[in-house]
Amino acid sequence: MKVIASISEMTRFSENLRRQDQTIAFVPTMGYLHEGHVALMREGKKKADHLVVSIFVNPAQFGPSEDFSTYPRAVEQDLEKCRTIGAAAVFTPGSADIYPPGFQTYVALEKLPLHLCGLSRPQFFRGVATVVTKLFNIVNPHFALFGEKDYQQLAIIRQLVIDLNFDIEIIGVPIVREPDGLAKSSRNKYLTQKQRPHALLLHHCIQAAEKMVKDGETDARKIEDAAIQILLSCPDITVDYVSICDPVTLDGVTGIQEKSLMAVAVWLGKIRLIDNQILFLPNKNV
Ligand code: AMP
Repeated sequence: MKVIASISEMTRFSENLRRQDQTIAFVPTMGYLHEGHVALMREGKKKADHLVVSIFVNPAQFGPSEDFSTYPRAVEQDLEKCRTIGAAAVFTPGSADIYPPGFQTYVALEKLPLHLCGLSRPQFFRGVATVVTKLFNIVNPHFALFGEKDYQQLAIIRQLVIDLNFDIEIIGVPIVREPDGLAKSSRNKYLTQKQRPHALLLHHCIQAAEKMVKDGETDARKIEDAAIQILLSCPDITVDYVSICDPVTLDGVTGIQEKSLMAVAVWLGKIRLIDNQILFLPNKNV
């Protein structure tokens, strides 16, 4: 497995594979790899001849008061995981390579970021779209894999490849969870023993919503309110949003559609946690 820090070397590596008619699957990450990332990598291995993983904690997607400096990092462990899975290369650029002095060109979508996480993190998706565009240009993969855990990010990347004419197939991978249902996340490392059961309320409030829909409730507000009550049963939780929305446009809906997205974000102390699930109208789900 090659560990490549230089942009030109990464590009040459991909060009070389493409010249030999070999296909490349790409998994961009911020490192501190867990089973969620591993699921993306395994899927990538199935899809293409070679897997390329990037590890880059992207400063452009963190707000000034967010956790860029304390975001967990463990490069050596990450490389070992990539090696075990059989990645062909891991791209580990430095911040100054991706954002050299004078950098001023950003990629920003007009509508999709105006929902969900974009409301409380106004620069976040501009940072994501910019770094993913740059990584796509550098790695030039045939496939790129993203987790459904970050549903809005996946929707944005799907739109971005259409709008910017990237010839890359975007593959969404289902959320990987802990045995009790908590969505795996690099930030879970910061949960204290006391906070850990409270984090599970995200999953519980989505399960409660699913049950309400199964029992015939179609009023999105009522379902959102019930979910908020579940979350607020923990005094340490601050709700960012609970939203039932259209799974493509992310526009809020008043009534449950055949297929609706339920997305939730909270702060538990200083830790931001998100989760989501598609809600299906009962008779359409069989
Ligand atoms: P991150 O390192 O947090 O930027 O995540 C890198 C990729 O892994 C993104 O496409 C995430 O959506 C995906 N990912 C993170 N956690 C999970 C999870 N629990 N299940 C599936 N995919 C995940």
